[in-house]
Amino acid sequence: MSEPTGAAGYGERYAAALMNTFGPPKLTLVRGEGAHVWDAAGTEYVDLLGGIAVNALGHAHPALVAAVSEQLGTLGHISNFFASEPQIELAETLLGLLGHGDGKVFFTNSGTEAVEAAFKLTRRTGRTHVVVAQGGFHGRTMGALALTSKEAYRAPFEPLPGHVTFVPYGDTEALSAAVTDRTAAVLLEPIQGEAGVVVPPDGYLAAARRVATDNGALLWLDEIQTGMGRTGHWFEHHRSGVVPDVVTLAKGLAGGFPIGACIALGEAGDLLQPGNHGTTFGGNPVACAAALAVIRTITADGLMDNAAKRGDELRDALLAPAQVTGTTGHGLLVGIQLDGEYAADTVTAAQHAGFIINMTGPSRLRLAPPLVLTEEDTRAFGAAWPDILARAQEGS
Ligand SMILES: *Cc1c(COP(=O)(O)O)cnc(C)c1O
Repeated sequence: MSEPTGAAGYGERYAAALMNTFGPPKLTLVRGEGAHVWDAAGTEYVDLLGGIAVNALGHAHPALVAAVSEQLGTLGHISNFFASEPQIELAETLLGLLGHGDGKVFFTNSGTEAVEAAFKLTRRTGRTHVVVAQGGFHGRTMGALALTSKEAYRAPFEPLPGHVTFVPYGDTEALSAAVTDRTAAVLLEPIQGEAGVVVPPDGYLAAARRVATDNGALLWLDEIQTGMGRTGHWFEHHRSGVVPDVVTLAKGLAGGFPIGACIALGEAGDLLQPGNHGTTFGGNPVACAAALAVIRTITADGLMDNAAKRGDELRDALLAPAQVTGTTGHGLLVGIQLDGEYAADTVTAAQHAGFIINMTGPSRLRLAPPLVLTEEDTRAFGAAWPDILARAQEGS
């Protein structure tokens, strides 16, 4: 395995001690500040991936550091036999941000666990069928994987829980044909993140809402990647005004501290009853305090507005070279379409130029930077971008 840049000895130690589920690491990072990170050799990078849409406040944000330290020094962990104030306050806050009235929250430690909780919740409707979209990504536990369409992820682990129907994303007719009175839930990402930031046609979520309602099924929106301000709204579904029954959150929720949430609105909030589900760490006071600090900082510092502005600047800069045939997404969730299959070389060339970006397909890239990204950062990337592409086409 090749040695990650500036990581004397780390590459071999990683390969010897860690399961090879992610392939060789691209870098060994030692420190971060704002939207910047440094590797073991002291090389600086602008982090345009943000831990895959996670580091909402960037790295080492003082408000997050203070909230976590203070909570850990006050009450770090209790079991779910007991309540804590941060947990209650975070549940209330999230329901308030959603703005759809009454609801109930179940906290987890990750996105896949939030999906798992929601999947179990759908079974309590008395129905067992779920309709999901091709290209959708919902996690890697056996339940979440059953709802994820990618064959390469699924095939080695079959049989997976059944009664899952896949329909083309963005196709209202296909959705309406697949949903029946046996459907417990329709599960969709408001923008498909892992598929490469795929935005559905206008009116798709509203149509999904109608189809679900007409068949007595729940509408479950997976906002794990799109939620918490990234697209310029607290939740991407706010753009269309559609009211879901279930929302799953994680990634940016606590800015890098592990947490997820399964939120059920209205009557769906009472589907899971005592004994139906549980967790040891979920709703941990430190994770909840971290999420509250993230939400307060996004509000106080106008970070959703910043996400929208920096996103526009990035899209303009990205589209300048002729090799980019299009960009997708909203705010700081950006998909980039190249005119050829050199996305992997583009990621490498960007890294050599001091920028961390991500590929979702052979000709497709994704940016999901911290919401604290500055205009200076977007300018620096814009200046380097044409040369990054030229080098990528030469094969780095
Ligand atoms: C990342 C992601 C998940 C899985 O979250 P993990 O925290 O990695 O388990 C589920 N759904 C969507 C839409 C995601 O982007």
